[in-house]
Amino acid sequence: MIYAANWKLNKSPDDAKRFAQELLTHSSQLENDQMILFPQALAASSLAESLRGSSIKWGLQNCYSKDSGAFTGENSLSVAQGMGASYVLVGHSERRSLFAEASGFLAEKNAYAQKLGVTPIYCIGETLDQRKNGQTRSVLIEQIHRGMGLSSKSLPFVIAYEPVWAIGTGQVATPEQVAETHLWIQEILKDFGWPELPLLYGGSVKADNAAVLKKIKNVDGFLIGGASLEVSSLLAIRDAE
Ligand code: PEP
Repeated sequence: MIYAANWKLNKSPDDAKRFAQELLTHSSQLENDQMILFPQALAASSLAESLRGSSIKWGLQNCYSKDSGAFTGENSLSVAQGMGASYVLVGHSERRSLFAEASGFLAEKNAYAQKLGVTPIYCIGETLDQRKNGQTRSVLIEQIHRGMGLSSKSLPFVIAYEPVWAIGTGQVATPEQVAETHLWIQEILKDFGWPELPLLYGGSVKADNAAVLKKIKNVDGFLIGGASLEVSSLLAIRDAE
């Protein structure tokens, strides 16, 4: 299973270092899983240093699709890669809703990350209104077709299904909703000529709902926000069965 920890705009460089040091004391427990930490960019250097030589990976929460140039305020994924980043979150719903990032723009980021050799974790998912109006499948089709339209089908790529209404709300999707939607995503990928891809579920995952979610077909891991801020709650999700 993949456990991806999205710290959002939390944790200073010192906090990130302390977290990594504590997590590394449990590394023998993590051998069969992939743990990926997503710090804010300013804490990346400290985290990278702390994780060096370990099997725990890290990545950026966002990137731009250019190495360098006149792009004020952006972070360079190629520099992060040089520091050891191997993943990047693309199109998190907070990027889509707060920073107006649309699937066409995200397509460039996904393709760019792949070209560098950094694995994109591309976030997709519907709003509550879209689900209530029966638009979930068509929203996912648009997000997949447009957002992945420039990407290589033969390079690593991960999708995180995150229903917007379940992120940070405590309202987790039901096992039936997750099963149905993850099946749809694999079907949409197949129709679009893609192989099956690793699929993460994200949205209020916690130790007390993780065991049920893990058993669902096509759930290959989780993207975790709030419950990833403490080593104990992250490991409790890992250990839930
Ligand atoms: C997220 O930020 O991607 C997320 C799923 O957050 P939370 O687990 O807090 O809902």
